[in-house]
Amino acid sequence: MKGLAILGSTGSIGTQTLDVVRAFPEDLRVVGLAAKRSINLLENQAREFHPKFVYCEASSREKARLTSTGSVEATMVDMVLDPDVDTVVTATVGDVALIPTVEAIKAGKNVALANKESIVMAGPILTRLATENGVDILPVDSEPSAIWQCIRGDNDGIARLVITASGGAFRNWTLAQLANATPEQAINHPTWNMGAKITVDSATLMNKAFEVIEAHYLFGIPWKEIDVVIHPQSIIHSMVEFVDGTFKAHLGLPDMRIPIQYALLYPERISNNSIGRFDPVSTGQLTFEEMDTDRYPCFNIALRFAKQGGTWPAALCGADEAAVELFLSGRIGFMEIPVVIQETLDSHSPIANPAPGQVLEAAEWARQRLNDLVGS
Ligand code: MG
Repeated sequence: MKGLAILGSTGSIGTQTLDVVRAFPEDLRVVGLAAKRSINLLENQAREFHPKFVYCEASSREKARLTSTGSVEATMVDMVLDPDVDTVVTATVGDVALIPTVEAIKAGKNVALANKESIVMAGPILTRLATENGVDILPVDSEPSAIWQCIRGDNDGIARLVITASGGAFRNWTLAQLANATPEQAINHPTWNMGAKITVDSATLMNKAFEVIEAHYLFGIPWKEIDVVIHPQSIIHSMVEFVDGTFKAHLGLPDMRIPIQYALLYPERISNNSIGRFDPVSTGQLTFEEMDTDRYPCFNIALRFAKQGGTWPAALCGADEAAVELFLSGRIGFMEIPVVIQETLDSHSPIANPAPGQVLEAAEWARQRLNDLVGS
């Protein structure tokens, strides 16, 4: 029986994580649930799963409603440090899970990592702490999970990682159309059903840059050995090329419960009848295209800055978060997202080898800087 603390339990990954818990009541137990503001859903979750702890950014009256379920209010850090917690699922958006993730790893808890901002912002910190404390960082994101499954037990002689990208909501749009893309259009993803921030990140391909950064840190693969290819069907979740010319690919339906279940039950594979199966014949074609970086300038901007390390990736995450927020609220256009991110990062003064607090400060600096730039 594994005890779970689920940070971000009311979001897309959080609710699908609870679907997996429902399917394996003998193997998985919810110890803590944390959410930002979706108090009604969190209350329903607490009544169903009876966690020891709950956390929510809510009024004291709402918090009283939550604790009336029998759960105790706790901070995310206190929750993850509880002895009953074996694995922490980080499914939050942005950087709120960074400090709880750091503390969980220091306390020897495994981390099922769905929140890619944490590893993008603080990759060297998290991987070093994980090694020192003998804990596993278990990727939940479908592409890193695919790579992990391809190299599990076979991690010698890796020549290259090929990360697949659906191309997002605007795959076939012209540059002129992209300039007028609305938030409603951007959050309508063709193959994956996800939260608003990550769906916009998918449309700009910022999300794909984050996955390259994530793979670089998680698997220790050099930048130049990680490529991205557009694969509209989202059936192959990533590929690994070995030095002898062998390719391994991970295939499956675009259903996040598959990588979530793999991370939570690792190292076991157990049948789950509620998950659909990929059928090669009915799927027919799997196609691949080169990525057009003119249409997706965020991708190159992100990698150019992130490769410099230090606080650059954190500033990148902060700038992206602020830019996506401004786009979603209609204050900047879709094609202005890369422009304002680049402008913000051009004025960043980086710190080498930052501590977790400095990582968070760099992200906060970038959020404010970007808002100042757009506001003036
Ligand atoms: Mg992904």
